[in-house]
Amino acid sequence: MSDLDIQQKDKQYVWHPFTHLRYAESPIHIVKGEGAYFYDADGNKLLDAISSWWVNLHGHCHPYISQKVTEQLNTLEHAIFSGFTHTPAVNLAERLLGYLPKNQSKIFYSDNGSTSVEVALKMTLQYWHNQGLSKKKFIAFENAYHGDTFGGMSVGARNVFNNAFENLLFDVIHIPLPSVENIDDLESTLQSWFTHHNDIAGFIFEPLVQGAAGMLMYEAEHLDRLISICQQNKVICIADEVMTGFGRTGKFFASDYLKNKPDIICLSKGLTGGYMPLGVTACAQFIYDAYISDDKTKTFFHGHSYTANSTACSAALASLDLMEKAETWKQIQLISNLHADFVSSHQNHKRLKNCRSKGTILALEINTDEHTHYLNNASESIATYFLKQQIIVRPLGNILYLIPPYCITEKELMRTYKVVDLFLSGLPVF
Ligand SMILES: *Cc1c(COP(=O)(O)O)cnc(C)c1O
Repeated sequence: MSDLDIQQKDKQYVWHPFTHLRYAESPIHIVKGEGAYFYDADGNKLLDAISSWWVNLHGHCHPYISQKVTEQLNTLEHAIFSGFTHTPAVNLAERLLGYLPKNQSKIFYSDNGSTSVEVALKMTLQYWHNQGLSKKKFIAFENAYHGDTFGGMSVGARNVFNNAFENLLFDVIHIPLPSVENIDDLESTLQSWFTHHNDIAGFIFEPLVQGAAGMLMYEAEHLDRLISICQQNKVICIADEVMTGFGRTGKFFASDYLKNKPDIICLSKGLTGGYMPLGVTACAQFIYDAYISDDKTKTFFHGHSYTANSTACSAALASLDLMEKAETWKQIQLISNLHADFVSSHQNHKRLKNCRSKGTILALEINTDEHTHYLNNASESIATYFLKQQIIVRPLGNILYLIPPYCITEKELMRTYKVVDLFLSGLPVF
């Protein structure tokens, strides 16, 4: 089928996510993936500098993961997970718990990042409910993004993404990201809430990097202080590591930078190396224990048809095999170092408001005459510029970021930086 046919049929039959139906350009028809590259129907080789929406870790069509997935497909493609189990799900749970902070002891499966958050929120609410306590409120950060389902939207920022649903979202206490300037105040504000209210169920956060907000970064030390005050007051702490997990921040999990460990951890995106949808909500033993009872109403009544899909679990196991290789960590270190060098050479750049990195994530806040926000027109023009250079980026408004697959080479990364510099040098100064 010709490319034109696909483009036309796409327009006729398909509705794409986060896509303006009038102004968006026709989608690019990807026909093949290999390593850090996509190939489109016109024969272009495109560098995937954003890991296909932050999911891909080891490159596209990695022979090892593909082989493991193929073997699993020929053995057991999927099985009902209530009343039944299978080896990939059990092995994956055991191995994940080996990497996660030591206080984590049970793995609950679902199928994506949003469901891993929904599970975390429901698990927390029912933890209190099962003990006869009415604690229903969550604390979350301003600008947070926790997925597109109703619970995820509720704990997320109120913005253009969820305007239409605003009065249906449950009430959440949104607090600013901590910084040197506000951490003392934040701590005392939280303490006074906890002293005067006993209805706070949990605190959910994206540890160290708020992805969709524009790769906003904050200090582990400050998050540690907030977790500490929450845990002292028996507020369940939920780390949404959907984006930050699996080496993205330079350590296996962003929680590895913390002294105070979260009670619940959400994983997805890189979990399967970017191969298949899969979500994980890990929890500490004391949460699981609140569901052990003779009373059947204390069961956690939550599940999805594709819970713990065996093929997805086998992709995750294969991805973990690759995460265990020294070569992968050498690459993570290399990308982190190169990003850090880029940041130090771009401090006070006159076309940038800010330039920052954490591990393999690099973000540049470009000076435009508009305020920084998602609908900023800068986004499309930046993406178009990079596409002409055969590089795929997807800026969040005027925030250009790179989050490459770990297989990217130094040469490819240096070329990408060069294109960034060329782009910046062509910009007017505001
Ligand atoms: C992407 C993301 C989600 C949602 O995951 P989906 O798989 O897209 O539903 C939730 N939380 C964070 C921090 C994310 O980056």
